Amino acid sequence: MQKFCQACGMPLEKKEDFAGGDENSNFCLHCVGEDGNVKSCEEIFEGGVQYFMSQIGDDRQLAEKITRKNMSQQPHWQGKECEILKGEIATDEEFAEVMKKLS
Ligand SMILES: [Zn+2]
Repeated sequence: MQKFCQACGMPLEKKEDFAGGDENSNFCLHCVGEDGNVKSCEEIFEGGVQYFMSQIGDDRQLAEKITRKNMSQQPHWQGKECEILKGEIATDEEFAEVMKKLS
């Protein structure tokens, strides 16, 4: 069964995609720090913004809105207080449009 990182939604396909190379993990290598703990909301948010900017160009405002929508849908953030996820959020149309562009 296809697994996805519970913090950022990245598909976990190869062993190397998993945090610590552990296929039982529910997180990707980008979302877990060297101490083995899931990174902070702010850190993962910033990583997401950088990733989407690398895909869609230098539109930081759009990248933030897309990252917010993406992270808000992930299981790890449900019920967590996360200030940075409370800003402006992408519409379903904007989100679908960007998803189409991802390589
Ligand atoms: Zn992740």
